[in-house]
Amino acid sequence: MSYNIAIDGPAGAGKSTIAKKIAKRLGYIYVDTGAMYRAMALYLIREGVAASDAAQISARCREADISIGYENGEQIVYLNGENVNGHIRTEEVGNMASASSPNPDVRKKLVELQQKLAASKDVVMDGRDIGTCVLPDAQVKVYLTADSRVRAERRYKELREKGVLCELDTIEKDIIERDRQDMTREISPLTQAADAVLIDSSRMTVDEVADAVIALM
Ligand code: C5P
Repeated sequence: MSYNIAIDGPAGAGKSTIAKKIAKRLGYIYVDTGAMYRAMALYLIREGVAASDAAQISARCREADISIGYENGEQIVYLNGENVNGHIRTEEVGNMASASSPNPDVRKKLVELQQKLAASKDVVMDGRDIGTCVLPDAQVKVYLTADSRVRAERRYKELREKGVLCELDTIEKDIIERDRQDMTREISPLTQAADAVLIDSSRMTVDEVADAVIALM
C-alpha cells in the first residue's frame, strides 16, 4: 500500500515549500493540487469564461486536459499538452482558481486525477481538501496555517524575487478574500480534518515545520 501525507491550509501558509522539502527527504512524490486548479483557471481565462458563469465553467472544463509530470524532481503541469508552469503563479490565475474551484465538475475531474496518483505512489500532497476529501485515509494529515500578515509577506517576497511589482496590503487583502471563498464554499470547503494535526508556522522555520511533520509518521 502507498504511504500518503496530506497537507492542507490557507493560501501562503507554506504548504508547497514544506511538502516539497518532505518529499525530497523521503523520496516521495510531491503533488501540488493547487497547480491543477490554477491550470484549469488559466484555461478558463484564456477562453474568456467569466468567473461568475457556473454553467460555462461546467461545460468548458471538460475541454481542459490536465496532467502532471516531473522534470528534475519538479512538478510540471500540462494543460492540453503545454507545460504551463510559467503561467500559473499570478494573482489573476490564483483568484480565478479560487472562483472556479467550487464548481463540482471541476472538482470531480481533478480529485479523480489526484486519487489515482496517490493510489499507486508514496506522495506528499498539498491543497485545501486533501485530508478531508481526496485522501481521507492518509496516514499523516497536517493543517498548516500562519497569520495572514506573515502569509502575505511570504507571497510578497516570492513575487518580488520574480520581479513582479506588487503591494503588500493588496496581497494580504487578496489572501483574506481567497481564504473566505475557500472556507465558505459548499463543496469541499477548506477546513481542518478531525484527525489532522494543526501546525502554525508563523514563527517556525521551514526545517522546523518539516521536522514536525516527519515526526508524525
Ligand atoms: O494552493 P494554491 O494557492 O495554488 O491554490 C489555488 C486555488 O485552488 C485555491 O485558492 C483553491 O480555491 C483551489 N484549490 C482547491 N483545492 C485544492 C487545491 C487548491 O480548491 N486541493
